[in-house]
Amino acid sequence: MTGIKEMAGKNGAAKLSRLRDLMKTVVVGTTGKGVDAYIVGSEDAHQSEYLAEKDQRRAFISGFAGSAGTAIITSDKALLWTDGRYFAQALKELDPPEAWTLMKEGVTGTPTQASWLASNLSPKSVVAADPNLMSNSAWAPIYASLIAAGHNFVPLEKNLVDLVWGKDRPGSPSHKIVAQPLKYTGKTAGEKIELCREAMRTEGVSTLVVTALDEVAYLLNLRGSDIAYNPVFFAYVVVTMEEVHFFVEQSNLTDEARQQLKDEGVDPNYHPYEEVDVYLKERSSTSEGKTWISDSSSYALHVSCGAGEVNCKRHTNITPICVMKAIKNPVEIEGMKKAHLKDAVALVKYLAWLDDKVKSRNGEPPVTELSGSAQLEKFRAEQEDFVGPSFNTISAVGAHGAIIHYAPTPETDAVINDHEFYLCDSGGQYRDGTTDVTRTVHYGVPSAFERECFTRVFKGQCALAKAIFPTMIKGNYLDILARKSLWEVGLDYLHGTAHGVGAFLNVHEGPMGISWRPHPHDPGLQVGMFLSNEPGYYEDDKFGIRLEDIEVVVEAATPYNYKSRSSLTFQCVTLVPIQSNLLDLSLLTDSEIEYLNRYHAEVLEKVSPLLQGEENLQALTWLKRETLPIFR
Ligand code: ZN
Ligand code: ZN
Repeated sequence: MTGIKEMAGKNGAAKLSRLRDLMKTVVVGTTGKGVDAYIVGSEDAHQSEYLAEKDQRRAFISGFAGSAGTAIITSDKALLWTDGRYFAQALKELDPPEAWTLMKEGVTGTPTQASWLASNLSPKSVVAADPNLMSNSAWAPIYASLIAAGHNFVPLEKNLVDLVWGKDRPGSPSHKIVAQPLKYTGKTAGEKIELCREAMRTEGVSTLVVTALDEVAYLLNLRGSDIAYNPVFFAYVVVTMEEVHFFVEQSNLTDEARQQLKDEGVDPNYHPYEEVDVYLKERSSTSEGKTWISDSSSYALHVSCGAGEVNCKRHTNITPICVMKAIKNPVEIEGMKKAHLKDAVALVKYLAWLDDKVKSRNGEPPVTELSGSAQLEKFRAEQEDFVGPSFNTISAVGAHGAIIHYAPTPETDAVINDHEFYLCDSGGQYRDGTTDVTRTVHYGVPSAFERECFTRVFKGQCALAKAIFPTMIKGNYLDILARKSLWEVGLDYLHGTAHGVGAFLNVHEGPMGISWRPHPHDPGLQVGMFLSNEPGYYEDDKFGIRLEDIEVVVEAATPYNYKSRSSLTFQCVTLVPIQSNLLDLSLLTDSEIEYLNRYHAEVLEKVSPLLQGEENLQALTWLKRETLPIFR
């Protein structure tokens, strides 16, 4: 993201003024008018969370480089909506700061984009957005509320930000697409397609449109590297009862990838990537059957499938792939566990190395946020089948820890010291699994308040990890467990508690999650799902604390079995010590102490055999010390 920040961090005023000129001069559809308000979201044509540089339009126009946010530009206003993870970062990055208004999502009193537009524009205004870059589910409510308020909301195929960006806009990435073999996936592409067809028969649809990049990669057992940190590639798939249509830059497919598709029983019809909308228009006008296209797919593709037409037959639920991908099969579960064990070895080596460097300076240059995260990546790279980080490492000292998605830059790089918290949230992509882990450490003596916050965050993590709950319950119901200890004393954190994690796929995946906000497509928690468990506490301009493990949902043994429904619980797959000397033991229950001691015993048992040999002595010694049982 550094590149985009550099680009985005300059000339903000000039970019806004050029965009406003274009808004005035472009003529929109049948309105015969220019654009009064232009919406720039943070999605690509596949509604991805992480973007290729060419798609970082909202960062380009606003300066704000966080992963979530929507900009709305009118003739005299520029507004940015983002959520609690990014308030502090947005205030620092918006360019120029005086031109932008931050709209804090999730804070009482902040209007939605639709209601702000409906009530702040002059009558009969024209609002426009690129229909490829907004999901159908996001488009529909804005459309409804603008039309109700007497405005127009129109799709503008010409992207105005791209015109401002001009020749400096990066080109399309075009990297090799490789096979992800059966020993990691546990299910052939052919079997997955058949499962899709079963679901299609059940729903009475004849065409399934797959637009999310991780769903395409999962379905075909292929991986790529078109987007940083996410092993995906640009493509669409359309599944019918007889055929598979693959819209992809064919020259990127390796011979092994093609061969594996054949071996796994899939012989797709290849089409150029750009032709998906033409194909869908043709098919929806000639085919009798219903088309399954998720509401999370772009509004433009919904139109190609006939949205808005009288006889349009669409099924807009999440795709069957979305849930299939979230519920890991035994081979994927094994792979994820192996990846987390390797990742634990890397992180233990890093934390042991860091502990030593901070405490015994030896005249060497101090470790900083950047040099620390580079060292961590080195340790990860030593591990078998490591591909790269699963996101930009959050390596944050003191006040930087309060910027929830902080990533150090040479300008902000701070020394990891012995008087402030150091929060490190990082993860790896391994061929057998994806990891995501946060530990917060302190090499001196924290204040009583800092210690209390750390303890309450731990209590929340522990409460969620130990939860026993009925099968299929939605994640939303469990969120209180992670917050209870903070809420009791008037504290909280402004982000969700858990997201799904892919198996050598995206570090954030749905459809389930645990948050105070319900996840609209949560199918209910089920055995084999992997979720993070990451409560935190953040004191703006002072410090940030977060503890994050990845947990797999497993069966729980309960003495009773109400109405024959089974019970579930979590099993932690992250194996990295939690700094127990930061805990205020007087705030912990016996069962929390027992939980931590059991966890640390497991960490020692599983990780220490991988830290043998002279070269690992420092890490092993540190691991033994950090996993010692605690007593009141
Ligand atoms: Zn994380
Ligand atoms: Zn996470």
